[in-house]
Amino acid sequence: MKHSQVFHSTRLRLAALYTGTMGVILTLCGVIFYEAMAHSHLSELNHRIESVAGTLHDGLEASLREPGRLEPVVQKFVPALCAAQAVCLSQDTTASHYLGVFQQDGYYIRFLDLSGQLLASSGQTPTHSLEQIETEPWQTLEMPDGTHYRQLSLLLKTANQTPWGYMQVGRSLYEVNGHMVWVKLSLLVGLPSTMLLVAVASWWLAGQAMQPVYKSYRQIQQFTADAAHELRTPLAAIQANLESTLTPDATDADAWDTLRIVERQNGRLSKLVQDLLILSRMDLQGLPAQRQPCNLNDLVSDLVEEFAGLAIASHLSLEADIRGAALITVLGIEEQLYRLVANLITNAIQYTPAGGTVVVCLSGDDYHALIQIQDTGIGIVPKEQSRIFNRFYRISSDRSRQTGGAGLGLAIAQTIAQAHRGNIQVESELGKGSTFTVQLPSKRDKQP
Ligand code: ADP
Repeated sequence: MKHSQVFHSTRLRLAALYTGTMGVILTLCGVIFYEAMAHSHLSELNHRIESVAGTLHDGLEASLREPGRLEPVVQKFVPALCAAQAVCLSQDTTASHYLGVFQQDGYYIRFLDLSGQLLASSGQTPTHSLEQIETEPWQTLEMPDGTHYRQLSLLLKTANQTPWGYMQVGRSLYEVNGHMVWVKLSLLVGLPSTMLLVAVASWWLAGQAMQPVYKSYRQIQQFTADAAHELRTPLAAIQANLESTLTPDATDADAWDTLRIVERQNGRLSKLVQDLLILSRMDLQGLPAQRQPCNLNDLVSDLVEEFAGLAIASHLSLEADIRGAALITVLGIEEQLYRLVANLITNAIQYTPAGGTVVVCLSGDDYHALIQIQDTGIGIVPKEQSRIFNRFYRISSDRSRQTGGAGLGLAIAQTIAQAHRGNIQVESELGKGSTFTVQLPSKRDKQP
């Protein structure tokens, strides 16, 4: 494929398209995955902060008496609480178990009066100004050193429902951010490596997908070259003979000889063009829809009769062997089936030396018709048996050239058999003979 510029560039384009498309899809998936991870981490953190803040809020409000004054009872809920500009209050060992979170890394709690002045705090509190406490309960704070905090601010009320101040519960986003940086790095490293693999796989896949197209392209190229070659030989013969005759000293006898050559070569050309037409029509259309029942008993008898003269001229015996009393009928085009069997009989006669025998045998069961053309001819070596059905293939060009065949006879026979949903098999032994078996789907009729 690399020798064909068109296929090479098409493969490259296909691979680039696959890779590009996969790149966009993978990048989108990566972004969605990253966003989903970030959202899930943040939601989990929000949930934890909310649950701690909610519990504290409910527990504290009942014991608050005067706005902006921290009652000693707060110590029961928040251990290691440090009053602003004062020494930290000692930790009460009887503190409730759920407040253990403040001893964990990153959590903090702060109490502020209604004007936003810090009253007390516990845990690793960030240093920042109080912003939008009333309108924006959830805040993500960015410190000058680049650290981030997630924080929930709640308004606390005293036991008699007058506003007391604010409680802020938050946690450092250090751990979450660290995790997300790791995810981002993995995606940034993983995506190009995956794209590299995708590019290699795309190149390989594009090659695989184009193999059948390339194969038929090569076949068409080969077919065109073979057809041109076959057409050139008779044309060159005609040209050479015409040139030698069209001289001032050519006699009438020379002219007659040339005309006979031209006639013979023209016949060869006509046969070749006819064969090529049959093949191209069948390639294009397959079998026409209007198939008719074809009586193979009559077809075989007619063909044996028709080729009897040729067999006698070649000093061969040609026989028909129609087995069974039932008529064997095949749905198809009679003219084509006739051509199929005729090609096989012609070959059998051509490749059987004088004194040999050719038998055309017809048999069948309820579903299949079998036509066997057996000869006692030269035979075919095993490695050639699969190739002889290729277009323009001849086992030995010189030998076949004498028969005038272009190597299309078996190709046509096979195309016709396949168009009738059948097949052709060959069994042969060099020097002993060959048997070509045509199998076609059939329906059996009772003999009238
Ligand atoms: P051609 O027109 O040259 O006969 P075919 O397609 O009919 O082309 O056959 C292809 C080749 O198969 C021939 O060149 C011939 O060598 C071989 N072949 C076909 N039929 C027979 C046979 N019955 N016995 C031996 N060789 C055969």
